[in-house]
Amino acid sequence: MTAKTAAERGLSVLLLERELEVGVPDKCGEYIPSLEEMKRLAPSVPNAEELFDPPSSCIVNRSKYVKFVFPNNHEVAVPFRGLTLERKLYDKHLTNEAARAGADIAILTKAIDLLKDGKGVRVKDIDGVRDIEAKTIVASDGAYSLVARRAGLPVSRDPLDYGVGYQYEMVNVDHDPDYVDMYLGEDIAPGTYAWIISKGDDVANVGTGVRTPYMKKGLNIRDYQRNFVEKHPISSEKLRNAKRTAIKAGFIPVGGAMERTCTERVLAVGDAGGHTIPTVGGGVPPALICGRIAGQVLVEYFEEGKPLTRFEGAWRAQMGKTLENSLRMRRMSDVVFKNEKMIDFVTKRGWLTEEMVMKFVLCEMDTKMRLMERTLRVMQL
Ligand SMILES: Cc1cc2nc3c(=O)[nH]c(=O)nc-3n(C[C@H](O)[C@H](O)[C@H](O)COP(=O)(O)OP(=O)(O)OC[C@H]3O[C@@H](n4cnc5c(N)ncnc54)[C@H](O)[C@@H]3O)c2cc1C
Repeated sequence: MTAKTAAERGLSVLLLERELEVGVPDKCGEYIPSLEEMKRLAPSVPNAEELFDPPSSCIVNRSKYVKFVFPNNHEVAVPFRGLTLERKLYDKHLTNEAARAGADIAILTKAIDLLKDGKGVRVKDIDGVRDIEAKTIVASDGAYSLVARRAGLPVSRDPLDYGVGYQYEMVNVDHDPDYVDMYLGEDIAPGTYAWIISKGDDVANVGTGVRTPYMKKGLNIRDYQRNFVEKHPISSEKLRNAKRTAIKAGFIPVGGAMERTCTERVLAVGDAGGHTIPTVGGGVPPALICGRIAGQVLVEYFEEGKPLTRFEGAWRAQMGKTLENSLRMRRMSDVVFKNEKMIDFVTKRGWLTEEMVMKFVLCEMDTKMRLMERTLRVMQL
């Protein structure tokens, strides 16, 4: 998105991709909120339709509800329209758009270092190692970004700030495509959640997320995923005849955006900047929003001489509140889903209702939510 936005306005852009193809292998649940929901989730984003109207050829399902399944098997579904994309096709679409706008795409070209003072990148490609000079650099190389780290940006090393996602694509899944299911609980997906996201008909992404410090000793992520697929009373029923056709896995930053996402020459965007919604690990929408802003800031830097560091305030004005609220809510759910007593406590208090779940989904921090936050903070002590 950054490459497309900058190239459209005439900047000279080189996009580096270490793989054979952008978007392959994909590691994603492939779910994004619909345009209408994005307008509620991030109301300060202008012209959201430019970002959240993917071509129908990339959309494999349209869902209507998000359902939370709590550890006591209490279920709460809220109306929330979403799309499942075929990420491989969508990433190809974005790459084509960037190339059509004039960006050059260097495939199989891995950034291995930043040149002194951020004056370019050292890359390794099929012909060996070489240096590429550039006036500005955008770190968009995903979670735990090498480029952002080399630029001296404060990329977190704390394992609590990362979710690890392990996902199967499956066929023969007995799941209503209108619903996206999220299963919470320390025994199921410690520190995050497990999911079933329909890809249309009987195909679905079925995955488990964990935060490693919360995992039980002796168990690894594959054990949690196996447990979710084979033993969970609700998901195992839906998956009893399902067959695995692919495995996808990766890290997701869930510790909030980095305190600083730019220097005078380098911007960090998407997962590289911690631009994900911490409660759900959703990174595609913030990457598109912040990616477009990065492109616009670059244009204003070159055309009008405005400082690159404007990026910080610019993306925070559009997405800052949503990401901050979501981080606060993730911290709240860390407390709630720690043990069954806490879950009973919040259930009895009427906190696991449709109203509260909707606020959680929309990252809305109102008086009721703040009261809940304060109570949980006290209980944690
Ligand atoms: C299992 C799982 C499920 C997820 N489900 C969802 C979901 O349903 N919805 C959602 O919104 N988000 C989801 N996410 C998060 C989402 O995938 C990311 O937030 C999103 O892909 C971030 O986009 P990005 O462009 O910043 O980074 P990436 O998509 O990671 O892209 C980074 C690109 O940079 C390339 N690259 C990396 N290092 C280098 C290098 N040194 N040199 C050159 N190229 C390099 C990579 O090959 C890749 O093409 C999920 C993540 C995981 C792991």
